[in-house]
Amino acid sequence: MKRIPEHLFPVWAGPGRGRGWSWPVCITWEGGEGLQSWGLDSAVWCMLCRGGREKLEQACQRGKGALQLPKAMLQLKLPRLFNIHQVPKVFWEDGIMSGYRHPQSSALDCILSSFQMTNETVNIWTHFLPTWYFLWRFFVLCSTVDFLFDSYTWPLLVYMLLICIYPFTSSCAHTFSTMSPEARHICYFFDYGALSLYSLGCAIAYGFYVMPECWVNSRLHHHFVPIAIANTIFCTSTSCYSRFLELHFPHRSKILRTGAFVIPFMFDNIPLFYRLLLGFGGGCAHTDSLSSHCYHLLFAFLTCFLFASHLPERLAPGRFDYIGHSHQLFHICAVVGTHFQMEAILADMASRRAWLTAHSAVPSFLGTLGALALGILLNLGIIGLFSASLLPPPKFTTHRTPQANGSVKDE
Ligand SMILES: [Zn+2]
Repeated sequence: MKRIPEHLFPVWAGPGRGRGWSWPVCITWEGGEGLQSWGLDSAVWCMLCRGGREKLEQACQRGKGALQLPKAMLQLKLPRLFNIHQVPKVFWEDGIMSGYRHPQSSALDCILSSFQMTNETVNIWTHFLPTWYFLWRFFVLCSTVDFLFDSYTWPLLVYMLLICIYPFTSSCAHTFSTMSPEARHICYFFDYGALSLYSLGCAIAYGFYVMPECWVNSRLHHHFVPIAIANTIFCTSTSCYSRFLELHFPHRSKILRTGAFVIPFMFDNIPLFYRLLLGFGGGCAHTDSLSSHCYHLLFAFLTCFLFASHLPERLAPGRFDYIGHSHQLFHICAVVGTHFQMEAILADMASRRAWLTAHSAVPSFLGTLGALALGILLNLGIIGLFSASLLPPPKFTTHRTPQANGSVKDE
C-alpha cells in the first residue's frame, strides 16, 4: 500500500470497548493494515487529511465563536433600574417602589427597555399587542365592508381607526415617558388626546348604530356628535391640566382626570343606558348586541375602578411593581372592554341596518370623518398649547449687525 503522508486530524478510533469518536483530539495519521480495514486509506480520507488540520482548526474557532455568542448576548449590560427615591418625584407612581428607568433615558434606551423587565414593560405590551389585534380586525372588515362608498359604514370606519390609535399611542407614551420630565408630560398629553378621540369615535358609532328607536331624529340625536366634539375639548384640556396639579394637589389632580374621562363616557353611553334600563331594549326591537354591550359596560366600570383606586399596589406597596399593578389591569380591562364594544357595535350595525336606513338620514361625511378631522385638529391644538407651556422660554440673543464702517451694532 502506498505510504500516506502524515497529517494530524481527528479520527474514528473504531468500534469496541473504550473506543469511539476522539473529537476534538488530533492524532497522527498512520497508514497501515489496521486502518485500511476500516477504510481510512481511501482517496476521500487522503484528500481530507491534506490541509485538513488547518481547515478543522478554522472550523473549531468558528464553532467556538458561535458557542460564545449567546453567552456574550446574555452578558449584555441592561440599563440600571432605580427605586422610587432615586428618581424625581414627577416620575413616582402610587405604590410602585422599584423598577424605574433612568429619568433621562435616550429614545433608544426607551425602546430597548420594552424588552427589559421594568415597572412599565407590561404597560407597554398590554397596549402594543392589542393594537395589532384591532388592526387585524380592521383589515378583515376592510375586505367585507365597503368603507369607501357605503356611507352607512363611515361611523364604523371612524370607530375602528380610533380603537387602533388609542392603544398604540398609549404604548408609545409608556415607552418614551422616561426621556425627561417634560417628555413624560407630553407623552401623556398625547395619550389623553387619543383616549379623548376614542370617546368621540364611540359617540359617532353610538349616535348612528346604538341610538334607541324612539330617540332617532330627536334633538339629542341631531346634536349627539357636536356635543361629543365639545366633550373631547373638555376631556383633553382637563386631563392635560390635571398633570400640572399632580405634584402639589394629587387628590385634586386625580379627581379632575377621572372626571375628564368619566363625563364623555357617561354621555356616549346615554343611548345604551336607555336601552338597557328602560325596558331592556328601550323601544329597540334588535337586541342581539345587548349581551356584548353589558360585557363592555362591566369592563368599563372595572377599568374606571382600577384607574381611580390604584389597587392592588396601594394595599401592598412594592409587591406589584413589575406584574399585577393597577395600571396593567386597567389596560387589560380597557382592551377587553373595547373588544366587546366593537362586537356590540358590529352586531347593532348589521341587525339594525334596514330599520335605521329607512327611518333616519344616512351618516354624512361631515358628521363622521369630518367630525374626526375636527376632533384631531382641536386635540392637537390643545396638546400643542399645553406642551408649549412646558418648554423653556426662548433665550433672547443679541444680534450683531455689521455696519458700513466695519464696526458691529447690537440689536
Ligand atoms: Zn396607560
